Amino acid sequence: MSTGTESNTFSIDFSERLKALPPYLFIEIDKAKRAAIAAGRDVINLGVGDPDQPTHPHIIDAMKKALDNPDNHHYALDAGLPALRQEIAKWFQGRFQVTLNPDTEIYPLIGSKEGLAHLPLGIINPKDKVLLTEPAYPAYRPAVEFASGKVVYFPLKASSEFLPDVKKIASMKDFKAIIINYPNNPTAATANKPFYAELVTLAREKGFIIVSDMAYSEVYYDGVKPPSILEIDGAKDVAIEFHSLSKTYFMTGWRIGWACGNPTLIQALAKVKSNFDSGVFQAIQVAGIAALQSPPDLIEDMRSAYQERRDYFINGLRSLGWKVPPPKATFYVWAKIPKGFSNSMETAKAFLDKADIVATPGLGFGGAGEGFIRMTLTVSKERINQAIDRLRKIL
Ligand SMILES: *Cc1c(COP(=O)(O)O)cnc(C)c1O
Repeated sequence: MSTGTESNTFSIDFSERLKALPPYLFIEIDKAKRAAIAAGRDVINLGVGDPDQPTHPHIIDAMKKALDNPDNHHYALDAGLPALRQEIAKWFQGRFQVTLNPDTEIYPLIGSKEGLAHLPLGIINPKDKVLLTEPAYPAYRPAVEFASGKVVYFPLKASSEFLPDVKKIASMKDFKAIIINYPNNPTAATANKPFYAELVTLAREKGFIIVSDMAYSEVYYDGVKPPSILEIDGAKDVAIEFHSLSKTYFMTGWRIGWACGNPTLIQALAKVKSNFDSGVFQAIQVAGIAALQSPPDLIEDMRSAYQERRDYFINGLRSLGWKVPPPKATFYVWAKIPKGFSNSMETAKAFLDKADIVATPGLGFGGAGEGFIRMTLTVSKERINQAIDRLRKIL
């Protein structure tokens, strides 16, 4: 104990929960990337999960107007503007034909990641098991572990289209919740209604919670719309689903999304959040309403632009003898590493060192991601073309 007179030898240490996080795998690649950029090399970044297009002007205009209104300058209501929740309900009805009660079944978030990170604190007790499909979006694991839950991994296989086998889930014991994510980052897989129906039936029988992350609900191709789990009868008894304006409306930096579904799960999340934040900046909520009211052709244009890039990229890769299945949704291409490479880190390193291309090693999404590499469609066709030319030289 310090008396205040001796020299201060007190050292600051991270908490055990922080120290228990997995090591950050990309330090070396990140360093190499920064060095490449600093050295003036023309780096093509296929690593970022962030749309390259700016937010639509009508959303920015709504924000500008909202900023001039002093009513929007105060602490927002935790549950957000009723008008926002009503607009979300309307959007959900139109998109999924699911009726949500705006007062009890919808809750606005400072981005869906925020909600996903906070939910476990409201529903997980120490040592409760939570099933995570793997490879997975890296934010799920710390969310569970910060709440003292225990993560149990469920590997997703290419041979079953990266969908978990519900019969296998049925054989697993004593878990409190499962987190699923379709359309999936990083595998680009989609789920169908029969899968959701089976999972909901099992959850109701066994009594576990389903957390569905649907950040990519609108980034789909070939006209095949991904369903929401809430379309399944009885899903609202067991499921909460997370939605985001980030990817759909090119609004990643704005931080707005929502949770919807089971009212008790919504209440748990709301109560946790009320102790951490004070809601979404109201001007952003107003902009969010404008986003949700966007004419459908804007979203259609987003999809066709990505679809064009996808086809271009996949055909280019095929021309190199690298056969990669085209994603059905999301802006990710999830590819088995090309012949001649032994693992995903080595592949990513070679792409950067020899072709000035940033790609994400599959290992970064968990052990089950090894053997794959993730590349994004968030660069122009011209850049995709250049990337193919550069890969031609090294593959
Ligand atoms: C981008 C992303 C999110 C986070 O979206 P925000 O709403 O911007 O927080 C959530 N889940 C997955 C799988 C993502 O890729």
